[in-house]
Amino acid sequence: MTVYSGPVFEMATNQFNVIANHLEIPVDERDRLLLPKRAITVSCPIHRDDGTVAVFEGYRVQHHLTLGPTKGGTRFSPSVDIGEVAALAIWMSWKCALAGLPYGGAKGGVNVDLATLSGRELESLSRRYMQEMIPFVGPHTDVMAPDMGTNEQVMAWFMDTYSMYQGRTVTEIVTGKPVASGGTLGRREATGRGVAHLASRVMKELAINLTGATAVVQGFGNVGSYAALDLHHFGLKVIAVSDHTGALHDERGLDIPALMHHATKHGSIAGFSNQRHFDPAEVLTLRCDVLVPAAMERVIDGKIAQKLRCRVLAEGANGPTTPDADLVLEKRQNEIFVIPDILCNSGGVVVSYFEWVQDLQQLFWEEEEVMRREYQILDRAFDRMVARARADNVSHRTAAMAIGVEKVRAAKNTRGLFP
Ligand code: NAD
Repeated sequence: MTVYSGPVFEMATNQFNVIANHLEIPVDERDRLLLPKRAITVSCPIHRDDGTVAVFEGYRVQHHLTLGPTKGGTRFSPSVDIGEVAALAIWMSWKCALAGLPYGGAKGGVNVDLATLSGRELESLSRRYMQEMIPFVGPHTDVMAPDMGTNEQVMAWFMDTYSMYQGRTVTEIVTGKPVASGGTLGRREATGRGVAHLASRVMKELAINLTGATAVVQGFGNVGSYAALDLHHFGLKVIAVSDHTGALHDERGLDIPALMHHATKHGSIAGFSNQRHFDPAEVLTLRCDVLVPAAMERVIDGKIAQKLRCRVLAEGANGPTTPDADLVLEKRQNEIFVIPDILCNSGGVVVSYFEWVQDLQQLFWEEEEVMRREYQILDRAFDRMVARARADNVSHRTAAMAIGVEKVRAAKNTRGLFP
């Protein structure tokens, strides 16, 4: 038992143990690699609009600081707890190492149901959370970014709050900011764009014609919507989309640009059209060429993995596939090509890294430059993963994680144990 114990942390631990066994890492080295460096829990009191005071619990977990500052999103969601945040921080570490970024992983979150907050209350909570974190974060210590339930506006409030306390503008304290406040072109689209880029690359390698191929996307927030949009632009028919309000299905293909416009205006896909509404749980098991889970973790368990009818599983969300499901998918690897989360959704942190670099240098790039460099890093990581999976005869997830864990391990071992 640790303070992190819970289903999501168990999942990150189980995945790590598979890699540690595969790499034959001595048992006494494992805790040092797995357990987070620091975990911070804060209480965030705010004034509600009705004059009462409400207190929300917030967390930040910094997994390791061996390669540079930590980096990771901040999640505002009612499911957030310290174990979930720790698991997400650990996954960020392997992801950054696989992409070759000079970061350890971090993650943060506030346990809150956003539906219960007004816009002003959300601003108060965002500012108070960042203010409580000031002693523990910094451009060379820990750099935050958006995740589920947070967006560019929240990042702008984080940046402004930190800057007010420093007495100068410190844009490099967070990434995923609006371009008007020191953000980079191409960050908003980066994660979904990377998912679609890798999915289309795999389709080409599997000789699946993009035009007229089908895609299904679970979750229509930042990641899901931009992944769907690019897949749509590549000529695929996005035949089903779901979010927390329900699901839409049309075998002729949904009008994704119009759906994005609707979701941006109304905050969800609800009320978009009369296209067949159906049980959101069915989304994952529809027959399609590309399935993109882009909502939350642990949605594909062993039972669902058996029922999947996709050719490519492009994991937009973090941790959507449980270890039970991985066992099933290993047996089905000739039918389903898995692009594991730590590679598939890494376009977000890659472009966050570009944003941080640009902010530090105060030298800004064109969007084409951002995209070119993003695809270059994703393609290189993809090639390494596929080569490693072949060489070691392991799954793509094991190969991707092994590369990440190995890099962190090598850095820890060469630096040694202080003091
Ligand atoms: P978001 O808050 O913008 O969107 C989340 C979406 O999921 C919303 O459409 C929501 O309605 C939907 N959703 C929630 N519960 C659902 C359910 N039960 N069924 C179907 N849909 C549901 O969040 P996001 O930033 O797009 O993040 C989505 C996932 O991608 C998370 O796992 C996150 O950790 C991961 N991720 C995000 C980024 C990023 O840059 N934003 C980067 C890497 C990974």
